[in-house]
This record gives sequence, C-alpha cells and structure tokens, in this order.
Amino acid sequence: MENVAIFDSPGKGRGLKATKEFWAGDVIFSEPSLAAVVFDSLAERICHSCFRRQEKLQRCGQCKFAHYCDRTCQRAGWAEHKQECSAIKAFGKAPNENIRLVARIMWRIDQEGSVVSDMQITTLDELEDHLTDLQEDEMKEFKVDIHNFLDYWPRGSKQHTVDEISHILGVINCNGFTVSDQRGLQAVGVGLFPNLCLVNHDCWPNCTVILNHGNQSAVNTMYHSQRRIELRSLGKIKEGEELTVAYVDYLNLSEERKKLLKTQYFFDCTCEHCTNHIKDDLKMGGKEVEGVKPPEEQVKEATDFCFEILEKIEQARLNADYHEVVKLCTQCIEKAEPVLADTHIYLLRVWSVFSEVQAYLQYFEEAADYARKMVEGYMKLYNTNNAALGMAAMRAGVNHWQAGLIEVGHSMICKAYAILMVTHGATHPITKDLEAMRIQTEMELRMFKQNEYVYHSMRDAALKNKPMSMMHEPKSMEEGIKNLFHRKK
Ligand SMILES: [Zn+2]
Ligand SMILES: [Zn+2]
Ligand SMILES: [Zn+2]
Repeated sequence: MENVAIFDSPGKGRGLKATKEFWAGDVIFSEPSLAAVVFDSLAERICHSCFRRQEKLQRCGQCKFAHYCDRTCQRAGWAEHKQECSAIKAFGKAPNENIRLVARIMWRIDQEGSVVSDMQITTLDELEDHLTDLQEDEMKEFKVDIHNFLDYWPRGSKQHTVDEISHILGVINCNGFTVSDQRGLQAVGVGLFPNLCLVNHDCWPNCTVILNHGNQSAVNTMYHSQRRIELRSLGKIKEGEELTVAYVDYLNLSEERKKLLKTQYFFDCTCEHCTNHIKDDLKMGGKEVEGVKPPEEQVKEATDFCFEILEKIEQARLNADYHEVVKLCTQCIEKAEPVLADTHIYLLRVWSVFSEVQAYLQYFEEAADYARKMVEGYMKLYNTNNAALGMAAMRAGVNHWQAGLIEVGHSMICKAYAILMVTHGATHPITKDLEAMRIQTEMELRMFKQNEYVYHSMRDAALKNKPMSMMHEPKSMEEGIKNLFHRKK
C-alpha cells in the first residue's frame, strides 16, 4: 500500500491521501473482500462463491441454503462457508444477510487475526460503527439482529461480547459495500472491504470504486481472490491530495444528497457542490427558448406532474405492464418536455425508463432518440469520467445500433468505451463487451460508407442473432448501482 497514507482529514476524521501523483484510470489500490454474502432475496439465483448470476445453480447438500455454479465454485467457497454451513443446519434456517456477514467476518478474524492480508491498512476495531447515531427504530432492528446473531452463533465457535458483535454490525451498517454481479448491472450482495471504509465522501469525487470479479479460471486458486474492488483515479490527483468517492448519486439536489448522507452515513456534507448548490438550477430548471425561461409557476407545475407520474411509472414497471409505462411516459413527456430543461432530473428519469422500455418492446428508433437525450443531459451534469454516464452512453450506443443509426451508435460506443477504460479498466467484463462492440460498429460503419444496401442487409441478419442485445426485462434492470454502500431498507 505504498500509494496511500492514512491522515486526519479536517472535519472528516480519518481519511486517505495520495502519496504520489495519479492520472485518470490509475488503480490506486485493489483490495479483496474480507467477507461478502449474497442478498437474502437472491440466495437461490446468485452463486455464493463467485457472485455470478446463473440460470441453474447447484444447492449445497448440507445446509440446502448456499447455491453454486458448479463443483469448482463450491470448492472455492468452502473455506468461507464451512462453519456457516453447519451453523445454518443447527439453527434450522439461514439468518438475514447482515447476520450472515457479521458471522463470516468473525469466523475469518478468529482464524486469521485482525489483519488478514498484507495490504490491509486498518483493523475493524479502528473503523467507526456510529452506534450512538442510530435512530430509535433503527436501534430496535439492530437489537433484533444482535439477538438473532447470538442464537445463530455456534457454541463451539469462539465467543464474543455483545459489544464486539455490535461494533461489527455497526460497521457493516454504514460501510457494507454493495456487491454487484459480474457485469456490474445488478446489486446482488454485500461485503466488507476495510481499506475502502477509510475513503471519505465527496459529491464531486476524484476517485471511483469498481468491483472486478476477475476471470473465472483464477477463482479457485486463492481464498477470496475473485471479489476485489479497485479504487480508480478519475483524473489527475496531486501528491498529498485527499482521495474521495461519492457515496450517493450526484443526480440528486444538494439538499437531498445532504439529507441522504446525514441519515445513512451520519455526517454533514460540506463539499463545494453542496455548499454552493452547484448545478441545482440545472437539475430543476426550465427550458430556455431563445434566452427566455418559462415562468417559475409553470416549471413547478411540470416538476410536480413529473414527480407524481414517475411513481405510477415505477409501479407499472414493477408490474411488468410495459405498455402502461409507455403510455404514462408519453403523457409526461408531452406535458413536461416543452417546459423543463433537458437537464431536469425528473425528465431525465422519464427519458431513461422510456428508452429502456421502448428498446425492450423493440421500438428502437424511439429508444435511441430518448437514450441520446438522456446522455446529453447527463453530460451537462456528471463529471466527464462518471461510470453512470459511461453506462448510459453504452445503452444509447446499443439502441442506435439496433435502430440502424450506425454513425451515432459507433460514436456513442466509443464515448462509453473511453469512460469505462477509466472507471472500470480494460479487464472488466463490461469494458471487454464494449471493445467488441466498438470493433464491430467500426467495421459496420466502414461498410455503411461503402455500400448502404449491403450494410442494411447485414445489420438485419445481425439483429436476428442479437449479438449485442441488452434487452433485459426492464423490471430486472436497475438504474445502475447508485448507492456505494448497501443500506437495508
Ligand atoms: Zn460461481
Ligand atoms: Zn452448506
Ligand atoms: Zn456534498
């Protein structure tokens, strides 16, 4: 860990600073998880060892709770499942994900000591648990977890005091990192990465965190080797500068971000963007036509209208009633688009859902059109190298390609690729997908310029094979993963 040092960050407590200069895309450190677990809700759909989503998983014959891709994954996961397996059997069922995670952490620390790798620069004892900041109802839930933990923890394992257990549960509560599937599209579990807990928040950060599952063939060689996070630099960072990441999505108003940070992470954000309400005006703004903005009343009315309809849209989407989603979005767009700025966050949200559902229903032109608007809005709001912007550009690129708009499609894919090279790195599965798309669209673009007829017939054939399809069912696809740390709702 020669790249970073722990220091006292003014007003923030402990933090990490760079001990040398970094450039966009540099990996400042990479860290394996101390422990991680699959969410309760996905226990039968995600492999408990490699955290990949698979159609068919094999169940652990002993506890009947853990699921694995195959023998290889089961063997690789055995070291961290062994004690859990007999505890679940004895307990009669699997306890919730928080309790399972605390137990996995404790078994590991009991076995290997408080520092489990030579890269780990902090012990769990030194991390904040914010127990005194918990609200009354949170405290109630917390006590239930402690109680259940004590029932679950085997007599034969090393015994711990309630204070020790509470501390680890508290640490997880504010620092449990959201683990995504291999393509980074869905939140599937929660894990603890001790060094990452030292990186403070900034709404306009200089770093990003990405989980890289590595390649599957290397999985079984090392304990936990497959789940590593990388702290990556988003731009130039000077020696001595504090390293920061965003705990919450920037596409919230500064007041909303501050509220989220206060209730979930227990601090008051004093970053430049919050203090000066930077870009709040764009996020709630009216559409300027020839230098004239609509009256405030009208903007507010359209904003409220969007807000209300977004709730209905979300409901229809959850019910998989996609034609209703299209109907509601169309209604909203008709009313709000002439009034609201193209950076208005509710309008962006509507465009995003609309294009996603249209692509699913195979209305590719509409999908492409609104995905492009969304990307253009994002570009005015987000940092140039923002992962959510990169993913949006990728989606827009695919939609354009699907619609036969190869020139814009190719340029969007290139844009996405450039961003993801910084935020995800060349070895991430999504970046590799993008590279393949970049090469394919480049070839098609060349063909298009030579002979449009040949291009179109080739594209029709390619569409039938759907090699670049991103048509998940919209309800299963999250809007990226916007909260860095996992909070139980
Ligand atoms: Zn697996
Ligand atoms: Zn088992
Ligand atoms: Zn802030």
